[in-house]
Amino acid sequence: MERILVIGAGGQLGTELVEALIRRHGTESVIATDLQIPEHHPGVHFETLDVLDREQLDDMVISNKITTIYHLAALLSGNAEKHPLFAWKLNMEGLLNVLELGRVNPELKIFWPSSIGVFGPTTPKEDTQQSTIMEPNTVYGISKMAGERWCQYYFEHYNVDVRSLRYPGLIGYKSLPGGGTTDYAVDIFYKAIQGENFECFLKEDTVLPMMYIEDAVRATIELMEAPAEKISVRSSYNLAAFSFSPSEIYEQIKLQYPDFAISYAPDFRQQIADSWPATIDDSKARQDWQWQENYDLEGLVEVMITNLSEKLVHN
Ligand code: NAD
Repeated sequence: MERILVIGAGGQLGTELVEALIRRHGTESVIATDLQIPEHHPGVHFETLDVLDREQLDDMVISNKITTIYHLAALLSGNAEKHPLFAWKLNMEGLLNVLELGRVNPELKIFWPSSIGVFGPTTPKEDTQQSTIMEPNTVYGISKMAGERWCQYYFEHYNVDVRSLRYPGLIGYKSLPGGGTTDYAVDIFYKAIQGENFECFLKEDTVLPMMYIEDAVRATIELMEAPAEKISVRSSYNLAAFSFSPSEIYEQIKLQYPDFAISYAPDFRQQIADSWPATIDDSKARQDWQWQENYDLEGLVEVMITNLSEKLVHN
């Protein structure tokens, strides 16, 4: 039986990944962990765990006979620029603690997310390839790029079965984003539904790759369930669904909220966004394990408005 540990489970991605893993494997197979236990976690076995505490992490994995780790804890792009050295520590040491567990326990499967943040201003912006120029100029990007190199290293030298995806901006209604550069694409829905104006921290024409979070969760599980021989990329796979700019998503939302107004006040995150690709070539993921998104921009807007409206009414 699979025994799954999710680290950083209280965040935007973890909240939804844990739900999906429980649906697939049952409550008793999944241990969700984070620095703090969330107030509401119905039907989820939740414990505290600091991924930087190597002893606590080792104990947790050994005593629960863990077979698979999803290591999601990280400082995201916007927050990392505010705390560069701490971001490096958390993003690197956390990953190395988990990879070391994989080195001594060859049965362990590990998932670790990378990001489009690995790319930088010298990367070709359109149709960005799996292997291309990578000169990230953010702390987050530097840490994700180094993390990818470590994953490949542990796979090649120690045979660790570690798998990874370069997520685009993730958009969902169940949990709030954690301080990234694409957070505006979640916030905009709250403002539209609550009848407020929206001030966007990116310029209107800044196109970035995005994905509905349900697709990202499914991609993650499909990657982890793919036979090892299908996995030709051991750094991290490019992964894409669609790309849009703030003005494009605004126009789509406005179809349902005609009075909704937007203004633009770019802040420090504009520079981060400017260094990232606009569109991603994810053909490797499509070839190797048949990745296919279910949601496009229209589908995303529909599912976000329907579900978030309902959620906000009930809160
Ligand atoms: P998040 O900030 O919402 O969640 C991260 C969680 O990690 C938080 O709940 C936090 O409390 C926890 N955490 C922080 N320090 C910890 C520690 N020392 N030990 C244990 N837990 C700790 O982030 P997210 O959006 O859920 O992202 C998850 C992963 O996906 C990250 O690695 C992130 O870089 C990657 N990613 C996310 C996006 C996105 O758009 N959300 C895009 C690309 C990549």
